[in-house]
Amino acid sequence: KTYPIYLRGDVQKGFGRGGKELGCATANLPSSVFDPPSKLTETGVYFGYASVDLDAETGGAKDGGVWPMVMSVGWNPFYKNEQKTAEVHIMHEFQHDFYGKHMKVVVLGYIRPEFNYVSREALIEDIETDKQVGLRSLDRPAWSAYKQDSFFAEHA
Ligand code: ADP
Ligand code: MG
Repeated sequence: KTYPIYLRGDVQKGFGRGGKELGCATANLPSSVFDPPSKLTETGVYFGYASVDLDAETGGAKDGGVWPMVMSVGWNPFYKNEQKTAEVHIMHEFQHDFYGKHMKVVVLGYIRPEFNYVSREALIEDIETDKQVGLRSLDRPAWSAYKQDSFFAEHA
């Protein structure tokens, strides 16, 4: 059984692929999530839930929780496409960046493979669709239940 896939690690600094410019910041997981026997083999877009270990100054008290996420897995051009990255967009508005914080992710399903985009507008439109597909899927009780998964209660 492929899902759920449990991933965790400290949020890495990315290489400015324009996440925030596209209106879609993506928090990068460390490359260890691909270490064998990782179940994260297909590139493309996934959905599930995520949480971040925020402290007081990053809004911990207010934001502590588990939120819907969409995650892109792909080959990073910065590394001449020799290294895969897993980038998580959390569907929650944060007050601050959370680089270096511990992030936990439960991946529940696959949305689509990676496409080559002719325009930035086309890409932005697809990201919007991914978020809607993710949210609609997570509405199903069997998947909403993972919000309470004991994995999210474990300590770093
Ligand atoms: P980078 O190239 O460093 O990944 P991004 O533009 O993709 O830069 O921004 C990612 C960072 O934005 C995350 O590491 C996190 O600290 C912050 N961030 C703020 N809000 C979100 C969110 N809703 N989802 C993911 N990351 C977010
Ligand atoms: Mg990013």
